[in-house]
Amino acid sequence: MDWNQLADLLFPDIVTTREDMEQRFPKRELPQGANVTRIGPSPTGFVHLGNLYNAIIGERIAHQSNGVFYLRIEDTDNKREVPGAVATVINAMAYFGVNFDEGAVAEGDKGAYGPYRQRQRREIYQTFAKWLVLQGKAYPCFLSEEEIAAIREEQNARKEDIGIYGKYAEKNRNLTLEEIRAKLENGETWVLRFKGSLNSEYIAVEDAIRGKLEMPRNFHDFILLKSDGIPTYHFAHVVDDHLMRSTHVIRGEEWIPSLPIHIELFREFGWEHPIYCHTATLMKIEGSSKRKLSKRKDPELALAYYQEEGISQDAVWEFLLTVLNSDYEEWRIANPAGNYLDFPYTLEKMSTSGALVDLDKLRDVSKNVICRMSAEEVYEKWYAWCVKYNEKYAVLLEKYKERTIAALKIGRGGEKPRRDIETWKQACEFMSFYYDETFEIVDAMPEECDEALVHAFVSRYLEDMDYNDDSATWFGKVRELTREFGFAVKPKDYKKDPSAYKGSIVHVTNMLRVALTGRCNAPDIWEVTHVLGEKIARERLGRWC
Ligand code: GLU
Repeated sequence: MDWNQLADLLFPDIVTTREDMEQRFPKRELPQGANVTRIGPSPTGFVHLGNLYNAIIGERIAHQSNGVFYLRIEDTDNKREVPGAVATVINAMAYFGVNFDEGAVAEGDKGAYGPYRQRQRREIYQTFAKWLVLQGKAYPCFLSEEEIAAIREEQNARKEDIGIYGKYAEKNRNLTLEEIRAKLENGETWVLRFKGSLNSEYIAVEDAIRGKLEMPRNFHDFILLKSDGIPTYHFAHVVDDHLMRSTHVIRGEEWIPSLPIHIELFREFGWEHPIYCHTATLMKIEGSSKRKLSKRKDPELALAYYQEEGISQDAVWEFLLTVLNSDYEEWRIANPAGNYLDFPYTLEKMSTSGALVDLDKLRDVSKNVICRMSAEEVYEKWYAWCVKYNEKYAVLLEKYKERTIAALKIGRGGEKPRRDIETWKQACEFMSFYYDETFEIVDAMPEECDEALVHAFVSRYLEDMDYNDDSATWFGKVRELTREFGFAVKPKDYKKDPSAYKGSIVHVTNMLRVALTGRCNAPDIWEVTHVLGEKIARERLGRWC
């Protein structure tokens, strides 16, 4: 076979060489030790929590080392592409504050190693495909679907490995140039296959998360280019990560079985392969067992879920860092006010046995994250979310900016800050009593306080109320009234002898809280009164008189 002729026959338009490509995408000039990482999501319209999980690792190890982190759109799979899906990926990553130095952006591409969308890299892949043909290492294969199905059946019956290799590959490997030419002229479809060699060798790859991975070397004639000339994931991965000069490939563990194919290609091209980092699959606990998160059953697998629920970017990062790195929680305890970006992230501390996505834990992390923010920061982030997901509320927050910030200041700071807010969506509910437009009586009055009592108590309370009283004076008056109305000032007195009292001060303050805020779970009454202002406070309490 004349490989030159075959290469020109298969790729008549390709005039570039692999040397041209090496020149077009030279080695990056980066400081020693700088890492180059990427994520390569497929634009299916569904952005996965796993995409963010891998993005956070890539972002950390790139930016901690003054390297480069980029976004590559892996759109080689025709069937999976959904219009608008690239924008969805870009927006989701932006929402979570993942910053790329290079890659696909809304208006096209940014960076010198593009195009960053695989469908636009056809010439690049074909240049390397042509080179493989020139080496006699790749050939066109005309097997039809039926022929492949028949081979599979035969292999199944003989309990052999499934695939095209050895004698199953012979027919197409041995076609003459004339036969190939005739088939092409005849319009027969073909794929380009790599010529694997039968062997019983093993390969060993050092995975930065898992340690040494040992597996049989590839012997398959795997597909490089599909019948539309678009590469398979395997071929695109090797060419792209080489030319874009990735130092680390962070991807899900589902890719481990195809590692031998990738290693085979790197070896054939004489390139050093990147450091592989195969991350653990995201799992959840169900009952007493762990299972993989499922797209169908678990809304929390979609990044859109976190956006729609208004789970703050910082909470999601903090949560994923906790899941990702066994040292993170310890670091957080030692650095309660530190920025999570200051945590020295390392791949070695990662779990390999399934990363647990526990939404209760996320909510808990989220409360901690939000209670550490300043009131102004909470306001800005919550407001930004409302602009997108709850317009009516955004209008309220604009109208009552000062009041909202004053409200958010209640119980903030200090050793034990209030942990009222867990998501922006829940904040809209929790904070609703601060605005007449959304104020509602949610909780019932305590049983100990019947209608007549509420009426009498609140009337006296309003009579005695002096808006200028400080918190201590105010509370002194509440205690006085409590006693006057036959309630125990100390809850434990009431507990000891319930028949001696109508209730305790807890019931009294709950009564006032319900009257003022519509609920039992609200911050300090004196503080809330001063955020709402005298007029609104009197109005709300006055309704019960
Ligand atoms: N397109 C691949 C995926 O969506 C990316 C794998 C990789 O990062 O190499 O799973």
